[in-house]
Amino acid sequence: MQELVVISGKGGTGKTSLAASFAVLADRPVIADCDVDAADLHLVLSPQIKERHEFRSGHEAVIRQDDCTGCGACLAHCRVGAVLTPAVQDEWRMSGRMRMNCSDCAYCERSCDSRTNAIIGEMREALGKARSAAYAIDPIACEGCGVCVRFCPEKAIDFPERISGEWMVSETRCGPMVHARLGVAAENSGKLVSLVRREARRIAESANRPLVIVDGPPGIGCPVIASVTGATLVLAVTEPTVSGEHDLERVLSLTRHFDIPAAVCVNKWDLNPEMTGRIEDKARKAGARIVGRIRYDRAVTLAQMRGLAVVETEAPCIEDIQHVWNELS
Ligand code: SF4
Ligand code: SF4
Repeated sequence: MQELVVISGKGGTGKTSLAASFAVLADRPVIADCDVDAADLHLVLSPQIKERHEFRSGHEAVIRQDDCTGCGACLAHCRVGAVLTPAVQDEWRMSGRMRMNCSDCAYCERSCDSRTNAIIGEMREALGKARSAAYAIDPIACEGCGVCVRFCPEKAIDFPERISGEWMVSETRCGPMVHARLGVAAENSGKLVSLVRREARRIAESANRPLVIVDGPPGIGCPVIASVTGATLVLAVTEPTVSGEHDLERVLSLTRHFDIPAAVCVNKWDLNPEMTGRIEDKARKAGARIVGRIRYDRAVTLAQMRGLAVVETEAPCIEDIQHVWNELS
């Protein structure tokens, strides 16, 4: 079984359009959309979802309101300002404290490095009121370090696994597809990418399908590394711009580092032929194989709007894409 991963140093180079076209051209592929932070291959391949699974990753602190005595220990120890004190904020609003300049966001209370329980106590005293409500955790800000759980004297903080997204197994007109959706502000996209790839490979092996086509994430961070390690071939798609050139250098240094064979194609090459030549020279020197150029073609956008892969339309650039595919096969 072969695994082709399509990546780009930056978003918007046409990576997903190419991956969708390859899915149409390939013989019985399994498709994996590993761009889990901004998945969009499903817009073209219209998957029919067959299985849906939760993606759990890391933990989050949750205060049991009934058990919280409001001691403030969690607030004092949380280094990312995730502990919220709604009662204190309410008291500030009611007392008019710092009314002239304060917008009551409580950022100072949550984020001051030198804060202690004593300071918080003084603040309460200054307000002349005892707090009445329990503390709470901002789930977006919480990084799941567990420190507040450790220091809560009442053991009033639960620490469940965080549901960070979901992954799906679907059917498309090109074959099975594994794809995912990462939750808002959720982390560990690299872990989710690994899971999607693993599942796609498992399906390919069990159904005796010869190829997995991976639509990888942009950039060179953790999700990209999770997408390319162990792949048969990486196709880096770039465009003839200064940022495209720079980002391709970074991508190729990544594939070199992990010793993965790399191929390069320049999309919209005719927008700057001179730059295209320069990028190809650099890519060759970096050890990559040049597998073709794809012309700028407005029909690509029209295909996306119709929910079709480019090679399913009459777009003039089809012959360029077919050429790239032949070079890769
Ligand atoms: S440390 Fe525990 S008891 Fe104290 S405010 Fe935080 S959750 Fe409530
Ligand atoms: S788990 Fe860590 S980041 Fe989350 S609220 Fe507790 S101390 Fe703050």
